[in-house]
Amino acid sequence: MTEKLSTEYLDRVAASLTEIKKAADEAGARVVAATKTVPAEVIRFAFGHGLEYMGENRVQELLGKIDSLPFGSDRIHFIGRLQTNKVRYLVGRVCMIHSLDSLRLAEEISRRFVSGVDCLVEINVGHEGEKGGVYAEDCERFINQTAGLPNVNLRGLMSIGPYMENKEDYRPYMEKVAQLFEKMKSLGYFGPDPQLSMGMSDNFRLALEYGATIIRPGTAIFGRRSAT
Ligand SMILES: *Cc1c(COP(=O)(O)O)cnc(C)c1O
Repeated sequence: MTEKLSTEYLDRVAASLTEIKKAADEAGARVVAATKTVPAEVIRFAFGHGLEYMGENRVQELLGKIDSLPFGSDRIHFIGRLQTNKVRYLVGRVCMIHSLDSLRLAEEISRRFVSGVDCLVEINVGHEGEKGGVYAEDCERFINQTAGLPNVNLRGLMSIGPYMENKEDYRPYMEKVAQLFEKMKSLGYFGPDPQLSMGMSDNFRLALEYGATIIRPGTAIFGRRSAT
């Protein structure tokens, strides 16, 4: 880790961040940096260099870092798969959950977050069995099941999407999610400021093209993760 925190490394983080934020700003989108495996001191550095939001994948990892972060829950999103029995640890610690994908999870969020929390419905656009998320064709039914739950503030959609070797191959998936988002938005499900969380390091520019309001780059800012 120490070698990663060289001036050279931190300069690279700052430069990447500047470039990505510029692209997001031009599209009117926000950057939620995916910070899994990134140490708190690097996250702190990034916040000193223009980063506004971070997204964590694992509850345990978030709890381990949170006391070393110089900002509060209004900057922290939860973007990973969320087990029902972990929901309670996120109360007061995150301002948005990107991975709502089951009624059980929605009910637990509703029960625990007594002051409410913004939630995005995760769409499993590639029908990938091993991933979380609701299939696009089930989205409206799912929204109708959860929309009445107190404290679950549905704000939009999130998608991860299958990995593609060739960037152009992301287009049909992004288009599908974008269309679904437009439809649900026009039906009024997401309130006055709807959010579409789409795009990671290898495709965030494409996602901005398709109307993402939140992009979630990790590697493109912090460099390659070592295996965990
Ligand atoms: C890891 C992760 C990202 C960022 O992925 P990169 O390829 O490192 O940009 C974005 N979203 C989610 C949900 C992730 O788990």
